[in-house]
Amino acid sequence: MPVWTTSAPPFYKNGFVVSCERTRQAVVIDPGDDVDQQLAIVRREAVTVTMILLTHAHLDHVTGVAAAKAALGVDVWLHRDDLFLYEGAVQQGRMFGLDVQPQPRPDRFYAEGETLTFGDYVVDVRHTPGHCPGGVCLAIGRAGQQARELFVGDTLFAGSIGRTDLPGGDLETLLGSIRSELFVYPDSTVVHSGHGPDTTIGEERRTNPFLQGH
Ligand SMILES: [Zn+2]
Ligand SMILES: [Zn+2]
Repeated sequence: MPVWTTSAPPFYKNGFVVSCERTRQAVVIDPGDDVDQQLAIVRREAVTVTMILLTHAHLDHVTGVAAAKAALGVDVWLHRDDLFLYEGAVQQGRMFGLDVQPQPRPDRFYAEGETLTFGDYVVDVRHTPGHCPGGVCLAIGRAGQQARELFVGDTLFAGSIGRTDLPGGDLETLLGSIRSELFVYPDSTVVHSGHGPDTTIGEERRTNPFLQGH
């Protein structure tokens, strides 16, 4: 599954472009300050983006939504429970001393257990609250096959977990989401986190210090 990872200052949040080799349809995940890199990949690879998917609505994951939507003209998807964060992006920016432009309203809210499609691939949307109320895991793989790669936002990192001290965060909820929504995947499952390097479910199950004994 072709995956390109992008990142830019000041947050160095990971954004992604994921495409279907056969149809060249693609999705853009979490356009932030790296949105120009994502749009350059879309042009270079000559893929057709069909959806802009948000893992959650913290500032670093959404500052590029306006630019992505203007360039691509497709729907922006978000979990409804993060709408208050999304609409507060300008205020979130002020907390960091950043001048953030308001972003266009999301076009669609993920439904419970929703599966989206692009090309030969499906996106299983799993609600993973805890880091924030409307966080989701986007589990992407070939239609008709079991294997998935997980785009987990800030729920799980290599060797760490998402912070829970921001509005709507809760540690026990986060640990529960990781257990019930992420650790149901096989050990070989690749995890693309919102910050830092990729990892696997098996590596985190074995070694993540926040998840031992849970
Ligand atoms: Zn976050
Ligand atoms: Zn983040």
